[in-house]
Amino acid sequence: MRAKLFQAIIGVVIVGAFIYFLWVFAKSIYHLFVDWRTSKSLDEMALAFDEKRREKLEQAEQRLNNDCDHDYDDLLHAFPPDVCVKCGLAKKRPAADCDHVWRRVPGAIPGSRCESCGEMHGAAAKMEGAEVQPENEAKSGMDAEP
Ligand SMILES: [Zn+2]
Ligand SMILES: [Zn+2]
Repeated sequence: MRAKLFQAIIGVVIVGAFIYFLWVFAKSIYHLFVDWRTSKSLDEMALAFDEKRREKLEQAEQRLNNDCDHDYDDLLHAFPPDVCVKCGLAKKRPAADCDHVWRRVPGAIPGSRCESCGEMHGAAAKMEGAEVQPENEAKSGMDAEP
């Protein structure tokens, strides 16, 4: 009777130990799987990131591939820094929505204006700003009238 009880206890202990080791094993497999999946998605992210960066670089190169023998020596400071005085493109695409194409503003005052968005740069911009101001006021005044 005693021996049987002892055997039963041993059996329970063995089964318990077996289940415990199985649990530990499953857990480590799960962790391995999670690590693998994380590293895989990280790899994928890095790959996508590289792809995007390469595309951007290619686009940046294509951008300046316009048969212009770029000249960034803007002696008059009519253009923003690092802008080609011949074709008006900046060395680096600006962060703004518009990829400005700067054109020299005619006149004695060094200044330039973007062909696509009309943004002004240089001393001429300040002159223009001074001229534009009263015009805007006149317009808003007219709007106020019934
Ligand atoms: Zn150029
Ligand atoms: Zn622009």
